[in-house]
Amino acid sequence: MSLLYLGLFYSVLIGLVIGSFLNVCIDRLPLQYLSQEEKQQLLSTSTLSDILKQYLASNRLNLLYPVRSICFTCGHQLSWYENIPVFSYLWLHGRCRSCQSSYGQRAIWIELLNGTIYGLLYHFFGFSSFSFILALSSSYALVYGGIIKEQGRVPKIIQHVGVLIICLDTGIIALELL
Ligand SMILES: [Zn+2]
Repeated sequence: MSLLYLGLFYSVLIGLVIGSFLNVCIDRLPLQYLSQEEKQQLLSTSTLSDILKQYLASNRLNLLYPVRSICFTCGHQLSWYENIPVFSYLWLHGRCRSCQSSYGQRAIWIELLNGTIYGLLYHFFGFSSFSFILALSSSYALVYGGIIKEQGRVPKIIQHVGVLIICLDTGIIALELL
């Protein structure tokens, strides 16, 4: 395999793995940054699963905990082979192996989009600071878009991260132009 194809292969692979993490962000960040009022409302009225209510009530759900992805319906912790980007989704038909509830199609689309974007960036710009900026911004856009589509609004902290990313991108471009 030539170096070009090897680079492309790794770019897409990294894009898929990061895409998998983006799904965790879309799933958990809106729940992690609920106000007390919103949380109480969700806990008392919504049709959330018991396991998710337990996580919410104890303030334990965040990007790093639980370490392994869980099914939000039954709490089943996904083992490594249920968590391989794209492959696991296709193998399990997008369903939880334990309770058979559907994960929806968003997960695989985010992974595929992110993998494709990273592959295209490598194809056009190689491993460069420009690729890094565009990869960071596009992954952020996928998280932002995913949350907006599902929740209708984005927690303030994610908007602040967006401003930081713009500052970082601008700084890197300025350094490149110096
Ligand atoms: Zn399940």
